[in-house]
Amino acid sequence: MLIFDAHLDLAMNALEWNRDLTQSVEKIRAREKGLTDKVDRQNGTVALPDMRRGGIGICVATQIARFVKEKNPLPGWHSPEQAWAQTQGQLSWYRAMEEAGQMRALTDRPSLQRHVQNWSPSSDAPIGYILSLEGADSMVTLKHLERSYQQGLRALGPAHYGPGTYAQGTDASGGMGPRGRELLQEMERLNIILDVTHLCDESFWEAIEHFDGPVWASHSNCRALTPHNRQFSDEQIKVLIERGAVIGGALDAWMMIPDWIRGKTTPQSTGLKLERIIDHIDHVCQLAGNANHSGIGSDLDGAFGREQSPGDLDTIADLARLPELFAQRGYKPAEIESIMSGNFIRFLEKAWS
Ligand SMILES: [Zn+2]
Repeated sequence: MLIFDAHLDLAMNALEWNRDLTQSVEKIRAREKGLTDKVDRQNGTVALPDMRRGGIGICVATQIARFVKEKNPLPGWHSPEQAWAQTQGQLSWYRAMEEAGQMRALTDRPSLQRHVQNWSPSSDAPIGYILSLEGADSMVTLKHLERSYQQGLRALGPAHYGPGTYAQGTDASGGMGPRGRELLQEMERLNIILDVTHLCDESFWEAIEHFDGPVWASHSNCRALTPHNRQFSDEQIKVLIERGAVIGGALDAWMMIPDWIRGKTTPQSTGLKLERIIDHIDHVCQLAGNANHSGIGSDLDGAFGREQSPGDLDTIADLARLPELFAQRGYKPAEIESIMSGNFIRFLEKAWS
């Protein structure tokens, strides 16, 4: 079965974690022996060969670079121009993957439909990707957004963690303000998808009110099951459903179960298993009354690895076990297909029609 993963920080892993994603997860882990510069060394789960092995033939792949003002304790670049340059380096890696036949940019309806029709999990098939930007801080001016669109950018989340230039993100508070609204207007003009993931509640509601284009939540779980501002409340999920959004369930352990303490809690100490994501996805399906608004946005290797993932997940190829787990929970084959890829594909076909 073709699987669509709506959120992977592939270029970040290639350039900041120095991972050659054309190699298998096993080889990348072996190469990281002895490295201690990142908490997730030797615990990575994502590489292009393992994606093919699991049938993950399409993903939303990010550019990501935060700009931090003085006194912001989060890691990030000290000017928007540096953040922009970082995202351009990431773009350059995606282009190199295209040239090597490893990946394929999907930017419009024909390229998407061709890719879906021709996809087969043969060992050398290019993986299709939709380019997205996580956090808009690297947009030095709105002119940069138009340039990014020309480079293939098709989705954008205005904020990431903390306060941002255009919107306030996870653990922050406040609205989007005039610059944020201008960004939304320009996104609407360019037909860039609004990714509401990471928006704090005030910015979320302001964005919903002021943006009339296509909206999705690429990697977001349910606050009803994991109470934290990073997840969405039922009220937020309901309005997303009304707007025709698809919500991708994320496999970052702390977002799946309550009270996870990063660096302390382990998959083993909690017994967290892959099946738990079905509780979140099922919650969205129950609110919608159907299975048309759920998908997968794993976020695997989004600055965490096996130490902060379901205990029975070794690599991203384990996503291929989800259809069986959905079937055990009473989901019908057509519903499972919709969740695994159909909903996001149809969303894009509509957004790009
Ligand atoms: Zn994220």
